[in-house]
Amino acid sequence: MPENYYTETTEAPETDFDISLRPPELTEFFGQEKVKERISLMIEAAKQREDVLAHILLSGPPGLGKTTLAHIIASATGSQLHSTSGPQIEKAGDLAGILTNLKRGDVLFIDEIHRLHPAIEEYLYPAMEDYRLDIIIDQGPNARTIELSLPRFTLVGATTRAGMLTAPLRSRFTMTNRLDYYTAEELTNIVSRSASLLKVEIQSEGALEIASRSRGTPRVANSLLRWVRDFAQVKANGIITQEVADGALKMIDIDDDGLDEMDKRILEALIYKFDGGPVGLNSLAVAVGEDSSTIEEVYEPYLVMQGMLTRTPRGRVAMKRSYVKLGIAAPNNTGETDPELSLDA
Ligand code: ADP
Repeated sequence: MPENYYTETTEAPETDFDISLRPPELTEFFGQEKVKERISLMIEAAKQREDVLAHILLSGPPGLGKTTLAHIIASATGSQLHSTSGPQIEKAGDLAGILTNLKRGDVLFIDEIHRLHPAIEEYLYPAMEDYRLDIIIDQGPNARTIELSLPRFTLVGATTRAGMLTAPLRSRFTMTNRLDYYTAEELTNIVSRSASLLKVEIQSEGALEIASRSRGTPRVANSLLRWVRDFAQVKANGIITQEVADGALKMIDIDDDGLDEMDKRILEALIYKFDGGPVGLNSLAVAVGEDSSTIEEVYEPYLVMQGMLTRTPRGRVAMKRSYVKLGIAAPNNTGETDPELSLDA
């Protein structure tokens, strides 16, 4: 199985592969029509007024295109992008360093913004609202605040956990743009575009096969394509047909719904070890030997979307579809009988 082909969190360093396939402008960014429409409108309006673009929040599971959109926004407004992430900003001084380096109109991208330290967040409020930074220097009786004025800039915040953002921070963004999982058709376009950039020959059925097993996620689609390309080169004549894609994906245990070994391990633990739940996230994480935040941010959202698992106030519960997936009979009292309890409803 190719190493870490999609479990990487948003913190993982980007590979050259990621960067080379990243669409440079909105016309090559497939799907997410509503978000694209809003963003182009905001860019257009700011351009007409010769103003700086308002702050934009992007949320959604990893690999759906938040970083890509930040790059596109910066290039569409002809400005420079500065990237950082919530956990990287450890001290107020780090933030001050970043903010004072900005020029008018620059885009500051903060990935995983929900992981910003609360004290740092406080500094960000006046910076976002009034382009002002109040820095406290010295300690005790000598402590004093100096006010620095900042150039007008655009903050693009990305988060995999919009619900964890504090209300004051959220309210400083004009709106939350939620990215959703992509349809198989949109992913087919993405796979075909990537294949042509990589100069790999692919048939439309081959692209569809990869797309429909990519968990609705472009980063997964591109990573699977990379694997299928190697497989096609060694096991076939280099051309990705539907059969070649299917053979390659079977070899790494990706099933028809795009579920992999870890998804199945989660469902098996839930059903066999915890009698279908409810079970707490941490117990589930220990049972499958995976980090709880990876389960929560990467695996679960897709299993929820597929109707296999539901999150209730008392814990995770297996839905009937997961019993079907594992080929066993579902008890009568699965989570499905009580849908109003779901936190994802
Ligand atoms: P996120 O920041 O949400 O984790 P990224 O922006 O890093 O996701 O996207 C991961 C990869 O997926 C990018 O390198 C890009 O090549 C591809 N990608 C994401 N969204 C799209 C899209 N809408 N169209 C084409 N490629 C995309």
